[in-house]
Amino acid sequence: MSLQERDKKHLWHPLKQHQTHPDSLGIVKAKGCILTDEDGNEYIDAISSWYTCMFGHCNDFITSRVYQQMQTLDQIMFSDFTHEPAVRLSEELIKILPKNQNRIFFNDNGSTAVEAGIKMALQYYFNKGEKRTTFIAFENGFHGDTFGAMSVSGLSVYNGPFEDFLMDIQRIPVPNGENNEIIAEQLHQIISENNVVGFIYEPLIQGAAGMKIHKAADLNTILAICKKNNILTIADEVMTGFGKTGNYFASDEVATKPDIICLSKALTAGLVPMSITSCTEEIYAAFLDNDIAKGFFHCHTYAANPIACSAALASIELLKTQEIQDNIEYISSSHKEFSKKIEKHSKVSSVRYKGVILAIDLNTNAGRYGTLRDQLLQSFMNEGVFLRPLGNTIYIQPPYVITEDQLERIYTTITKILNSL
Ligand SMILES: *Cc1c(COP(=O)(O)O)cnc(C)c1O
Repeated sequence: MSLQERDKKHLWHPLKQHQTHPDSLGIVKAKGCILTDEDGNEYIDAISSWYTCMFGHCNDFITSRVYQQMQTLDQIMFSDFTHEPAVRLSEELIKILPKNQNRIFFNDNGSTAVEAGIKMALQYYFNKGEKRTTFIAFENGFHGDTFGAMSVSGLSVYNGPFEDFLMDIQRIPVPNGENNEIIAEQLHQIISENNVVGFIYEPLIQGAAGMKIHKAADLNTILAICKKNNILTIADEVMTGFGKTGNYFASDEVATKPDIICLSKALTAGLVPMSITSCTEEIYAAFLDNDIAKGFFHCHTYAANPIACSAALASIELLKTQEIQDNIEYISSSHKEFSKKIEKHSKVSSVRYKGVILAIDLNTNAGRYGTLRDQLLQSFMNEGVFLRPLGNTIYIQPPYVITEDQLERIYTTITKILNSL
C-alpha cells in the first residue's frame, strides 16, 4: 500500500478538511530545492516548505554540524544547566539582532515564541505593580495557534470557534499609505480607553494574510505612538526573520525597534523545531527580584535543545556568507523583473515583492478557501512546482540556494498556469 493510502487509517493532518480533501501526497526525499514523492515525481519547493529550509533541504553543511552535535550532547534541561550551543547561539544572535535586544529566551515553535512574548509583556507590567489587560494587533495578522497567539491573530477559520475564550484585543487596520491619520486616531482612542499592555505585529510583510506588504515609515508611525505611551512592542518575525526581506530582520528597516522579537521557521533552516523570544535588558530587569515569583515561570521541556541550537548556528553562519547575501539579492532582482512582466497579465490584479518574497493577486472573486485555489495548487504540482496559494494570492518564497534555472521554471510555470485559466 502507498503512503497515501496507509496515511488515511490513523492520521489527522493540520489545516485540512478530511472529508473533502482526503489525500496527502507521500514525500520520500528532499534535497536542495527538490522534493521527491513516492512515485518518483520531483517538485521545486518554491515556498521553502513554509519558509523554513532557506538553505535547501538536507543541506550538507548544516546536517554535518547537527550530526557532530548529536554525538556530543543531545538534550539537557535548560532550567538549571547551560551548554556551548545555546551560549554561542545567544552571542551570534545578539550580534545580528537590532541593537536594543540583549536577552534570548528559548521555546519550541513560532506560536510558543509569541506566547512567551505575550506573557513577558503581561508580567513586565505585573511585576511593576501595574494591571494591564489589553493587546493591540493588526486586523488580519497571524501569530499562531495557541490561545495567546490565536487571540492576537485576526478572526478566521483558525480561531473562530474559540472566540469566546480569547484575550482582550483591540484591532487596528494595517497601514496602506493613506490611512496613517485614521490609524493614529484609533490608536490614541484605544490607549485612552484601555489598559494597553502591548502591540504585536508582523513587520513589513504579513504572511498568512497573503504576503501583504506595508511601508516601514508607516509602521514606524504606529510604533512611535506606542513607545511614547509606554506600550510594549512585539515584532513577530517568525516568517520575516533571517534574510527574507533582504535584511537579516524586517525590523532592521524600521526606525523604532521592538521591545520583544519572536523568531522561528528559518531559525533552524527547516531541520528541527525551535523558536526564540528575544527582548531588551529593560524587560529582563523587571523580572529580577529576591521574590522567586517575579521570575519568568514559562518553560518548554525541549527549550534550547543543543541539536536545534547547532542547526541554528550553522544556518546563521551560512546566512552571513557573501554567497547567500548575493543570492538573496539575485532572487530579489529577478522578482522585480518578473513582476514587471506578470503585472500586465489579464488574470492578475496586483503584484508585490520584497526580498525573496513575491506575491501575485489574481483577478477573481473566488473565495479564500474556494475550488480555484485547490485547482491552482494541483496545476502547479502537475507542472513539478510546489506553490501553495493563500486564497487567490500566489506567492513565491524560494530557498536562498535556488538556481537560476529553477527560479525561471517557477516563473514560466506561473505564467503558463495563468494563461490556462
Ligand atoms: C508560522 C507563523 C507563526 C506560528 O509558528 P508555528 O511554528 O507554526 O507555531 C507565528 N507567526 C507568524 C508570523 C508565522 O508565519
